[in-house]
Amino acid sequence: MTEVRPYTSVRTVEVTEVGPRDGIQADPTFVPTARKIDWINRLIDAGVRRIEATSFVSPRAVPQLADAAEVMKGVKRSKDTVLAALVPNARGAIRAAEAGVDQIVVFVSASESHNLKNLNSTIDDSLKGFEEVARIAGDAGIPVHGAIATSFGCPFEGNVPVENVARIAKAYQDMGFVGMSFGDTTGMATPPLVRERVQAVRAAAPKLSQVLHFHNTRGIGLANVMAGLAEGVDRYEASFGGTGGCPFVPKATGNICTEDLLYLLDEMGIETGIDIRKMIDIACDAEAVLGRQLPGQLMKAGLRLDLHPMDSVRTATG
Ligand code: ZN
Repeated sequence: MTEVRPYTSVRTVEVTEVGPRDGIQADPTFVPTARKIDWINRLIDAGVRRIEATSFVSPRAVPQLADAAEVMKGVKRSKDTVLAALVPNARGAIRAAEAGVDQIVVFVSASESHNLKNLNSTIDDSLKGFEEVARIAGDAGIPVHGAIATSFGCPFEGNVPVENVARIAKAYQDMGFVGMSFGDTTGMATPPLVRERVQAVRAAAPKLSQVLHFHNTRGIGLANVMAGLAEGVDRYEASFGGTGGCPFVPKATGNICTEDLLYLLDEMGIETGIDIRKMIDIACDAEAVLGRQLPGQLMKAGLRLDLHPMDSVRTATG
């Protein structure tokens, strides 16, 4: 008998739900504030322990999230769940602190041209701006997490040097951030790149907790998760139904789907503490609210051992 070797030493994973922010921010359908609050409450109830709840950006730039403060106010908070919010600058950090977020997330792109397009700033100027954000957050006692967009490639430049990613992570660590996310904004991650970049950041910024944020643009989002697990990474970001897509990236599609990710982890015996059926319900609700079919697979197929009546399936040539 051959020995069954585990794919990974990781036994528990923290899945961050980014649907309420990343998932819907570019969606043309405005999601009513009450619905956003309901989703977040249900995510907390389903066992999600970190949620990217909203973003304190300019309401003109992202009208979908103009209600950030109201959303934060309306949610039934739980001490077990971190509600994180994205902020682009010091102004956003002040608003986020006033709204009582548990964690502030800043972001810069590892590609100079994507950063210019997305944030109208050089990488170094963005990093400089974060010092003030870190000061505001520090005064308010709020931890800061740094995302790195286009960590695996840029639609304008192609390959992004791993050194760029490592350098930004080191800057995050130096500013006292608690963690960093590799943003696969453009869906250009591959298993070898995941391995290379996780190792490079671990060497450059060993104190930062690493989070992998994949998009399923080219269909290998969950394969990249497997590569992350093989490297021992135990934190992943995903969105219900596979919602999302960056408005500044041509043809970018959604994040990896939370329920599909949970299914993979559950089947591997990895604990997440999240109720997959409750997550499927939220994804189905999101599909109804957004008025279009979402890319999530589990929400269509159900779990592996869900049984169907025999006469519900067509046989033979079907
Ligand atoms: Zn994303």
